[in-house]
Amino acid sequence: MENVTEFLNYIDGKWQPCGSGSTFENRNPADQDDLLGHFQASSAEDAQQAIAAAEKAFPAWRDTPISRRAKILNQAADYLVEHIEQFAQELTREEGKLLANSRDEIARSAQTLRFYAVEGQTITGETFPQDDARMMVYTQREPLGVATIITPWNFPISIPARKIAPALITGNTVVFKPSSDAPLIAHRLAEALHHAGIPEGVFNFMTGSASAIGQEITGTPAVRAVSFTGSTAAGEKIHRSVSLATRTQMELGGKNPLIILDDADIDTAVDLTIKGGFALTGQACTGTSRVLVARSIKAEYLSRLVERMKELQVGNGLDKGTQIGPLATRQQLDTVLGYIETGKREATHVHGGERLSGGAYDKGFYVSPAIFSDVTQEMRIAQEEIFGPVVAVIEIDGYDDAIVKANDTPYGLSAALVTQNIDYIQRFPLDIQAGTVKVNRTTTGNLINAPFGGLKQSSTSTFRESGRAGLDFFTQTKTVYVGR
Ligand code: NAP
Repeated sequence: MENVTEFLNYIDGKWQPCGSGSTFENRNPADQDDLLGHFQASSAEDAQQAIAAAEKAFPAWRDTPISRRAKILNQAADYLVEHIEQFAQELTREEGKLLANSRDEIARSAQTLRFYAVEGQTITGETFPQDDARMMVYTQREPLGVATIITPWNFPISIPARKIAPALITGNTVVFKPSSDAPLIAHRLAEALHHAGIPEGVFNFMTGSASAIGQEITGTPAVRAVSFTGSTAAGEKIHRSVSLATRTQMELGGKNPLIILDDADIDTAVDLTIKGGFALTGQACTGTSRVLVARSIKAEYLSRLVERMKELQVGNGLDKGTQIGPLATRQQLDTVLGYIETGKREATHVHGGERLSGGAYDKGFYVSPAIFSDVTQEMRIAQEEIFGPVVAVIEIDGYDDAIVKANDTPYGLSAALVTQNIDYIQRFPLDIQAGTVKVNRTTTGNLINAPFGGLKQSSTSTFRESGRAGLDFFTQTKTVYVGR
């Protein structure tokens, strides 16, 4: 196996190969000659071992002083920060995003661990007045037990961090399966927790395909919670298949609109389109996928947008000057190119959308950002999540028309409005069907300390993640009556 590292699972406090000895490759989407490592192709038996270890470790971890749990999260954060340059390079080689974005993501993951180390210590219950002076009535929040964490490749360390940290600080034990397309940076997070001294079995990390271990890690009765981020199709399948005793949190796809009213500053609107639609190669769940622009300013908006798009530098995320990296996987490349062809048939192709070739482009999955105009509601590019640098431009006749069209998809993750009109600014959060609502900002981005999640088919929406709300999913409430 040349000079390439074989990365192991982390089960019951031990780094170990999977039972079958099979592995899979992880290659750089910017350069397919660059092999990052071999990862364990785990099977159902490995998954059962991880769940059993987590189940065994639960009572002692639940009873571990919260200050000790917090210290482990803080030390894991220190480890990420100490290795930020190495890990950022690896994240870019693994997922394709720009090096600056990778550095931000590692730093954000460390901040998330620190945030929950503090916030987890502020959980409260309530007391209830009643008639019996010899009785106390109160609520108590407790961990659930074994929590399975399943995450996608697009934010392959910050999404795991925002699930794993609240799970651990509240006393749950964890089985973590990262995306098979970005297992290396997830492995680094496991390493960070190991270095921080996480006790045996409390945190278990395993790689392997969804088809081999998905059913085991979500459907086993000992698993009391599944926190999943990924596609709506996979999330829906898991949500429907788990037992009633298993709590689920599904953070899923989006078709996020940026609404530009006729009083908008056009340069601001163009800037928000580029940042929301094309940064991260359009591979953010909150990415701008539709632009709903006032008829009266559409021509000017499109003309300035195309001028800006011509300047965008597509290339390897490790190279200085690159503004748009490659798509993350071959499957992503095929899907996005497929939607570009659909767009050409359905709508007016304005700019971009070429499969880039020649030189370094031949080794990776490079596509130039694409814009389609004259898009109408029934078109596939207006309705389906593309998850690439492709923006569908839809004309609107005023605010009310914009709201009807913006709400007319199965999704409801994020939405943004560009205007200075205070009446519309105030109405927008109520009118729009989205869990994240922005005004004069991009559809993308969310704070560590604020709740995050979607509506409709973008989320199960019972529990939010991130911020203080992220603790709710991993705790259950009991009402206690104590007499003497
Ligand atoms: P995906 O194909 O649904 O996979 C996500 C994760 O789920 C992967 O680890 C995958 O494993 C696993 N998985 C898939 N089917 C499963 C099953 N039946 N049982 C157990 N695990 C299963 O999504 P993706 O392509 O990685 O990510 C892109 C999607 O994520 C987009 O739809 C995007 O909108 C969404 N996303 C949502 C948010 C949000 O917060 N709402 C944030 C980021 C991304 P394998 O890798 O082994 O297949």
